[in-house]
Amino acid sequence: MTQEELFKKLVAHCKEYGFIFPSSEIYDGLGAVYDYGQNGVELKNNIKRYWWDSMVKLHENIVGIDAAIFMHPKTWEASGHVAAFNDPLIDNKDSKKRYRADVLIEDWIAKQDEKIAKEVEKARKRFGESFNEAQYRSTSPRVLETAAKRDEVHKRYADAMNANDLTELRQIILDCEIACPISGTRNWTDVRQFNLMFSTQMGSTAEGASTIYLRPETAQGIFVNYLNVQKTARMKIPFGIAQIGKAFRNEIVARQFIFRMREFEQMEMQFFVQPGTEMEWWRRWKDIRMAWHRALGFGDDNYRFHDHEKLAHYANAATDIEYNFPFGFKEVEGIHSRTDFDLGRHQQYSGKKIQYFDPERGESYVPYVVETSIGVDRMFLQIMSAAYTEEKLEGGEERVVLRIPPQLAPTKVAVMPLVKKDGLPEVAQKIIDTLKYDHNVAYDEKDSIGKRYRRQDAIGTPFCVTVDHQTLEDNTVTVRHRDTMAQERIPIDALPAMVDGEVSFRKLFKKLGL
Ligand code: ATP
Repeated sequence: MTQEELFKKLVAHCKEYGFIFPSSEIYDGLGAVYDYGQNGVELKNNIKRYWWDSMVKLHENIVGIDAAIFMHPKTWEASGHVAAFNDPLIDNKDSKKRYRADVLIEDWIAKQDEKIAKEVEKARKRFGESFNEAQYRSTSPRVLETAAKRDEVHKRYADAMNANDLTELRQIILDCEIACPISGTRNWTDVRQFNLMFSTQMGSTAEGASTIYLRPETAQGIFVNYLNVQKTARMKIPFGIAQIGKAFRNEIVARQFIFRMREFEQMEMQFFVQPGTEMEWWRRWKDIRMAWHRALGFGDDNYRFHDHEKLAHYANAATDIEYNFPFGFKEVEGIHSRTDFDLGRHQQYSGKKIQYFDPERGESYVPYVVETSIGVDRMFLQIMSAAYTEEKLEGGEERVVLRIPPQLAPTKVAVMPLVKKDGLPEVAQKIIDTLKYDHNVAYDEKDSIGKRYRRQDAIGTPFCVTVDHQTLEDNTVTVRHRDTMAQERIPIDALPAMVDGEVSFRKLFKKLGL
């Protein structure tokens, strides 16, 4: 199965099992907008809890807020979004399809790496045991030629992005002979800038109404509340403010399911530090955030850092944490050193002094900021991509199992009476009653036990508990584990502790070393 086929299956699975539906589907959906179903919302809430608690509960110097989506329009002038929150777009004249010029070039660069990797693999097969990869990479004319071409384009691309040179971006696309995947032609328009903010009117009369924006990032809600929080919580630098909330971007190309949406949710934390210490904190937060991802156990090699080619207007250092999605390594989270840009600009635009008096230094300054910013939906997709597994079982049967970390699984336990009579459903209900205050528990009495196990595997439920006639005699049940499919007989009384041991966030948090 190709990675593309796998991804298609994953999307279909998300719909079939109530994780994600296209928005307003009965009207044929709305581009790049999605709704979360009964299982999706549970997984999403658990992701948010993992993030929120690891930030706010595990750091004494981080507090949370929940700011409004609408903000004073001046916010977005101060932040630079009105002037510079743009993507370079380009249209193919034949297919009439629109693309991001930067993405076309980045994809081309990634393809050169794939080409090189293929050459290396071919050579490995040819030379067998004696193959020396490093030597091959540094001497093979074909590899060297591709690498040189890639590096040259890379440099041109970085320069063009930094200089906002749209003509050069188009020229790179032409020089690299990049064709539209739909029409196959290279009949491109000029590259233009496109502002990604959605706007609307606030106020009832046309004359009195003012244009306001749906926030394109949650960060600004934190910056404008910096003074409120610092004063009322009596925070001392270094400290952080965390927030989870919706953000909106009129993305030019909305592809890859929930990877790039027009309405999405962010989990952002702005960490305020002494000027001059920001690089140290930036490195520290890179480590903390990478550990948070890796603690989920999807394989350390599936994550990597990718430093930005083009720094945003507010940043002096930026990196992404990328995950190895079925469509390649892509950004899940950004860690940015935002300098004093945001607070400084809000100070300037609002006329209010936004400064911190540092008793250690005996002086006031505008704090510097290190931000960690992760999309809930992208994290959701990352988990689904990593968890979705098709397995061949003994006897030729197949199963689809979502290997979601137990802490994040939508349902923790499914309780199943072997038959719908003889008092077994009543015992099952009693078991549910003992677990339901702490966990999301499901009851299932339809179909064979095997089919019921499959249904739970498909939504990632870690435990299935079967009540049978022996239960009536000795108060024991069969527990079947999702990943190993191993079954064990345990007393009902031992269930809460067993479930708790697996699904409690404690184990996950301990891995973070915070
Ligand atoms: P990209 O380069 O993919 O457009 P970005 O660098 O603009 O992303 P940031 O502004 O750093 O993204 O946003 C922080 C995080 O918010 C991203 O790492 C991602 O997880 C999430 N995010 C950003 N845009 C979207 C979107 N359109 N849909 C879903 N999640 C998004």
